Amino acid sequence: MLDHGIDRRTRECPERLARIDLAISSPGQTRDFVKYAPRRVTDEELFAVHSRFYIEQVAGCCVRDDPYCYDSDTYLMEDSLPVARLAAGGCLVLADAIMLDEIGRGFALIRPPGHHAEAGRGLGFCIINNVAVTAQYLVDRYDLERILILDFDAHHGNGTQQLFYESSKILFISIHQRSIFPFSGDVTELGQGAGAGFNVNIPVFSQYGDAEYEYLMGKLVLNIAEQFRPQIFLVSAGFDAHAHDSMSGLALSTAGFVEICELLKHSADQLCGGRLLYVLEGGYNLPSLTEAVLASMDSLMEPSCEPPKCGLSRRAHTLIESTLSGVLSDKWTI
Ligand SMILES: [Zn+2]
Repeated sequence: MLDHGIDRRTRECPERLARIDLAISSPGQTRDFVKYAPRRVTDEELFAVHSRFYIEQVAGCCVRDDPYCYDSDTYLMEDSLPVARLAAGGCLVLADAIMLDEIGRGFALIRPPGHHAEAGRGLGFCIINNVAVTAQYLVDRYDLERILILDFDAHHGNGTQQLFYESSKILFISIHQRSIFPFSGDVTELGQGAGAGFNVNIPVFSQYGDAEYEYLMGKLVLNIAEQFRPQIFLVSAGFDAHAHDSMSGLALSTAGFVEICELLKHSADQLCGGRLLYVLEGGYNLPSLTEAVLASMDSLMEPSCEPPKCGLSRRAHTLIESTLSGVLSDKWTI
């Protein structure tokens, strides 16, 4: 997955993964994890989510001279499509390992990211929607009927939302900074048809950090999860909401990402036998990305414990309540 890259400065670059790989492969590291080799998604798995026309269009652009001939962010070169297929397939390998009880939790360390990719369109560095391919695979292969996808990348997961907008099997919850790329993710986008109520957007203001996220996790995400009773948690884990990442104005610390992980672990243990799969999305400040990913990995390897009750100032509480009003359909009790 380091082969998708071009000779120009790009935010979504091979170094993102190379740094993480270096840290977990160094002789001094003592983490006790199992590594799974990825495989490429098959056509069947891929076309269950993306249109054939779109993938052919991408394949065509991959062999052209201009890496930006498809889109101004989402560069494409010779290896891009095979790499994207490997990234999505890596998630499926971990999904299998979790469903077969070989492991309880997993973290797909992959690139390029996926959550902006729609059925027929790539954007925002995303070619194949990795988390969506995984969710659809779990429905098709294991007959799962309730999958919860939490997306805490700083940007709205427009692609995942679009792909499951009419599905009641996949509950999509996105916490993201409002009014930044891709400019979707309003609270009024609630899903439609059978999927009405199964799409929950929580657009937050710039400067939101650990305390606010912890509160939103407890008040909304895990509360709704308890009512939905997922059979597995999938997480679009982007780390660009980190205070050191200039791609957003959000202010999570590494400890804040760990706290989110702790809360998810606890909830997964309560609701679905601990099944929890992290899928890497964004995160562009190399030191903070590496630090937050490794800290989250460490957390995933530890047993869960009772989460502490969070405290929140009256001002933050009021701010959050005002942003939350209208968030939910009457499907969920808050
Ligand atoms: Zn992002």
